[in-house]
Amino acid sequence: MISLIVPAFNEALVLRTLYERVAAAAKTWGDDWELILVDDGSVDETFHLASEIAAADPRFKVLSFSRNFGHQPAVTAGLSYASGDIICVIDADLQDPPEELLRFIDKCREGYDVVYAIRTKRKEGLPKRIAYSTYYRLLKKLASIDIPLDSGDFCVMSRRIVDVMNALPERNRFVRGLRSWAGFRQTGLRYERQARQAGEPKYTLSKLIKLGLDGVFSFSYKPLHIVMIIGLVLGLGAFVLGILVLAQYLSDVTVLGYNPRNARGWTSLMLVILFATGVQLFGMGLLGEYIGRIFEETKARPSYVVGRKVNF
Ligand code: UDP
Ligand code: MG
Repeated sequence: MISLIVPAFNEALVLRTLYERVAAAAKTWGDDWELILVDDGSVDETFHLASEIAAADPRFKVLSFSRNFGHQPAVTAGLSYASGDIICVIDADLQDPPEELLRFIDKCREGYDVVYAIRTKRKEGLPKRIAYSTYYRLLKKLASIDIPLDSGDFCVMSRRIVDVMNALPERNRFVRGLRSWAGFRQTGLRYERQARQAGEPKYTLSKLIKLGLDGVFSFSYKPLHIVMIIGLVLGLGAFVLGILVLAQYLSDVTVLGYNPRNARGWTSLMLVILFATGVQLFGMGLLGEYIGRIFEETKARPSYVVGRKVNF
């Protein structure tokens, strides 16, 4: 059986087309399938429409959150409710065409545990494309595991890897990172990412930034390491400079027109203070990112709350 997980937040405009295209494409991969639509607290007609489709087709299942928890919790919920042997994750807006899935499913049937999608052409504007591309390359440098470049959550997975991911207890879930972490046999297939079928993107800039930070801070402690090294170098430099300044004060010599006994040097002092406090604040902020995540994990609240279920 094949499970499709589709997170949707205010996607009423695309729901019907999504269902029709999935149902048509499903004929190529076999009759036994289910589609789990995870309604992430939509405030439009998404739930209403989804229930209508579900009433007519028992393979269409709806999981509705009590409020908007975000895309990653929605994928997480879908993964734990899916009962298929092969599990696919796609977006509701048809940017990942269901017709492409057959290639991925076939690859999975060959014995791969994860077949992730590599985006060749993006239909977004240039600034967004540059931002994505830089981010993925930075993440690859920082992350302690090998997260493939330019691949999002669109993928097809085997039962055993989904079981591994479901068993991971962490709450701040960066799904594509957990997927790489789980290991087994993984491969990527290229595809052309389509433009959104209808409606506005539901990933706001702040949600995107949160996702990006989760990727870095949940999979790497290298930022802490880098700041530690910077602090060490600056500290050593300050120590040496301090000794020199003290020696200069005691010996009363003038270097580059500067003599500590004449209390000049306001500019250099300001520069040092501003730079040092900047570095310190940055370091503290960085610590805060980790501590905030530790705080989230210790509270141990679930990452989503299911309000309504249809066809389960
Ligand atoms: N989405 C969601 N919860 C959110 C934001 C987005 O479930 O809080 C879903 C959305 O409905 C879509 C998918 O996540 O199916 C990807 O979102 P979007 O298309 O807005 O992102 P983009 O394709 O621009 O990265
Ligand atoms: Mg989209």
